[in-house]
Amino acid sequence: MKKLLILAILAAVAGAFFMLDLHHWLTLEGLKSGLGQFEQWRSQFPLITAGAFFTLYVVVTALSLPGAAVMTVAAGALFGLLQGTVLVSFASTIGATLAFLVSRYLLRDSVQQRFGSRLAAINRGIERDGAFYLFTLRLVPAFPFFLINLLMGLTPIKAWTFYWVSQIGMLAGTLVYVNAGTQIAQLESLSGILSPDLLISFALLGLFPLLAKKVTGLIQRRRVYARWKKPARFDRNLIVIGAGAGGLVSSYIAAAVNAKVTLIEAHKMGGDCLNYGCVPSKALIKSARVAHQMKHAERYGLEATNPSFSFRTVMARIHEVIRQVEPHDSVERYTGLGVEVLQGHASLIDPWTVEIRLHDGSRQRLTARSIILATGASPVVPPLPGLDETGYVTSDTLWDRFAELDIPPKRLIVLGGGPIGCELAQSFARLGSNVTQVQRGTRLLPREDEEVAQLVQASMQADGVKVLTGHAALRTEWREGRKFLICEHQEQETALEFDELLIAVGRQPRLTGYGLETLGIETRRTVVTNDYLETLYPNIYAVGDVAGPYQFTHTAAHQAWYAAVNALFGQFKRFRADYRVIPWTTFTDPEVARVGLSEQEAIDQGVAYEVTRYNLDDLDRAITESERTGFVKVLTAPGKDRILGVCIAGSHAGELLAEFVLAMKHGLGLNKVLGTIHTYPTWAEANKYAAGEWKKAHAPEAAMKWLQRYHAWRRG
Ligand SMILES: Cc1cc2nc3c(=O)[nH]c(=O)nc-3n(C[C@H](O)[C@H](O)[C@H](O)COP(=O)(O)OP(=O)(O)OC[C@H]3O[C@@H](n4cnc5c(N)ncnc54)[C@H](O)[C@@H]3O)c2cc1C
Repeated sequence: MKKLLILAILAAVAGAFFMLDLHHWLTLEGLKSGLGQFEQWRSQFPLITAGAFFTLYVVVTALSLPGAAVMTVAAGALFGLLQGTVLVSFASTIGATLAFLVSRYLLRDSVQQRFGSRLAAINRGIERDGAFYLFTLRLVPAFPFFLINLLMGLTPIKAWTFYWVSQIGMLAGTLVYVNAGTQIAQLESLSGILSPDLLISFALLGLFPLLAKKVTGLIQRRRVYARWKKPARFDRNLIVIGAGAGGLVSSYIAAAVNAKVTLIEAHKMGGDCLNYGCVPSKALIKSARVAHQMKHAERYGLEATNPSFSFRTVMARIHEVIRQVEPHDSVERYTGLGVEVLQGHASLIDPWTVEIRLHDGSRQRLTARSIILATGASPVVPPLPGLDETGYVTSDTLWDRFAELDIPPKRLIVLGGGPIGCELAQSFARLGSNVTQVQRGTRLLPREDEEVAQLVQASMQADGVKVLTGHAALRTEWREGRKFLICEHQEQETALEFDELLIAVGRQPRLTGYGLETLGIETRRTVVTNDYLETLYPNIYAVGDVAGPYQFTHTAAHQAWYAAVNALFGQFKRFRADYRVIPWTTFTDPEVARVGLSEQEAIDQGVAYEVTRYNLDDLDRAITESERTGFVKVLTAPGKDRILGVCIAGSHAGELLAEFVLAMKHGLGLNKVLGTIHTYPTWAEANKYAAGEWKKAHAPEAAMKWLQRYHAWRRG
């Protein structure tokens, strides 16, 4: 309402300006014809005339009215070069800043809300280099003055920065126009003031600070190398440290373009995903799901049965699954692809040299023009007193430790309520463990919307998991031969008994033990990289869990492409890692699959959205499989066919999401999903029905009424 009022006042003032024919005076002809009168006023009342001129200039520029250029010329004609320049310099800057503030107040929120995610990169650029861009724009009079004020108001640049950069940036142009005004008699037109030569000089002057900044950046990039001696020749084009998802894909790409590449792995080829992460956990989830289905077989008209099994055999299957996937990541496969694979521990010696402590005890040094760090992450173990005495497992150790058990752990505590903790807690509960899941926060899966977390929690509780939120683990204790986890809950201590404690409170990037410290490579929870995945040393890149911001196999592989291409071809073109469409899935039952914004994130970021929801209980395939829990939830830009985010909870959610990932990546909307044939009866139809819900909600009401009338008329 307040905004509307301000808009109305501004419109009224602008309207009055035109109705009173004031704009006539703000043309060169008008100025020339009235100059005598203006001169007279100035000589009679010099201060009042200067003040009135100053105020009028501020009003004209603040309201973005046409005439600022003529007024600048007038300043020269009336007040001379010095006084005219001072008056105009301050008046134009104050007016511009007012216009900037008006635009910011009236429009910025709604523009940022509507296009928030798409403006993110521009916003970051403006925050970083905004002053330089503005200076360039100010110095090149080809960019309309009023448009710069209004557009800059929509960006995050600070008002004070806008003020002083504008004042300095506009000074040269002001001088030229005011000077032209001192010879107004000879002036034929405004466009003649700036000769092409002058325009080019201004453009160069405007670009100078931006270029200077880039050159300084280049010098700084080179300076980090000053204390190192660069080898004259390199043994390899690329060395990759770590053979998890990030390292494997990096070296694969390098070999595919015939670069000489060495991949170094200290431990197991395939890294965490194959050996301790995605692969074993998904194999466990499958066994647990089958057990669950057997227990609930009556749903399918079969006799429910409590599965009898040897846990040792379940674990043996998991190791067999790893063994079957292993060849994809094996030394043999990568050697066959043209990658040299060395098994040993790598350390950075200087920005181009890596020393490898090979498994046979020997050491080898190799140099490379570029290096990619893909050293991954390891489970966080909180410093709880007693842990060493009572023992614990993490995702790294559980697969071997539990392989020896004939039955699943009787009383299992899972510490942590994130995706890994939930997947494992539910699986062990389904296999018969008495599972207690301890979460410090107020709910499980804190990155997901509350309703999603609740759905998963309800399902886990139905499987027998005791979920304790708001419980902070304090220590572990032995008490009379029994093990306890002591937690604080509502300022009271509670003791939870366990046979096994699984710690799943997060994963920390590996940052020590391989030379980051020696080279002074900056770390802040992860290795710090720029948009191109370069570390402090532009020839050393980091990808995957060690670089963040995501900790997924597919994001490690995604980053690997950018790092490998930048490392090998960066001298021609560098690519910024693109994180606009990042999907992920939590493989609980129901599965939770996400891409783009969640509803909570949209609210937190102030992004305007509409929600379309389709519940799976209505889907024929879900009904046939008696798996009707869940929904497809799509966030779209209000009134627009633009997908902002999707969350699917339910069976096969991870598979269903792929269609939306493709749509978002390629800018397709729900109309396209709706217009695509989906096989009947599949789970994927849920996507189409969600698109159908959206379409129904956006049917043009007026047209529908006319159609109703038309059909009534056709019926006679
Ligand atoms: C239980 C669990 C379940 C998961 N489930 C999923 C899932 O379903 N989907 C998903 O996308 N992600 C999942 N993840 C995450 C996924 O495993 C990681 O994001 C992925 O492995 C990261 O790959 P990376 O290449 O960055 O690191 P890693 O796979 O950790 O590989 C790093 C490698 O570098 C080696 N290394 C480290 N330092 C050196 C050195 N100095 N010299 C030589 N070698 C070195 C290590 O030995 C390791 O093999 C899961 C993780 C866990 C723990």
